[in-house]
Amino acid sequence: MLEYRKKIVQEVAACICDRCQKRMEPDDHDSGWHERVSLSFRGGFGSIFGDGSEVSVDLCPQCVRDTLGAWLRITPSEPDGLTYQDRLRSEWDGREADRPRPPSGPAGGDDA
Ligand SMILES: [Zn+2]
Repeated sequence: MLEYRKKIVQEVAACICDRCQKRMEPDDHDSGWHERVSLSFRGGFGSIFGDGSEVSVDLCPQCVRDTLGAWLRITPSEPDGLTYQDRLRSEWDGREADRPRPPSGPAGGDDA
């Protein structure tokens, strides 16, 4: 026979975009919750972020598109998906010229 005890479990209730402060909640399907990006890692020895530094960011879908859009590899689910990616890259090309540029080859290539 197994005996049970109560256990308190915490779950993420909301995510605030670090760039625009938008609040995203799992029960609000229009909030961007399902397309948010959370990145977290610890810098290693000689890291450009500092040895052993914790690096993290939470972004809403709009901020992911606005900051990383030109580098995203978007696999279209519809025929016009490629057109959308071309438009994103075109918009990015119109931005500040001194910013890093996306690779000009096909998506998925290595920038090296
Ligand atoms: Zn945002």
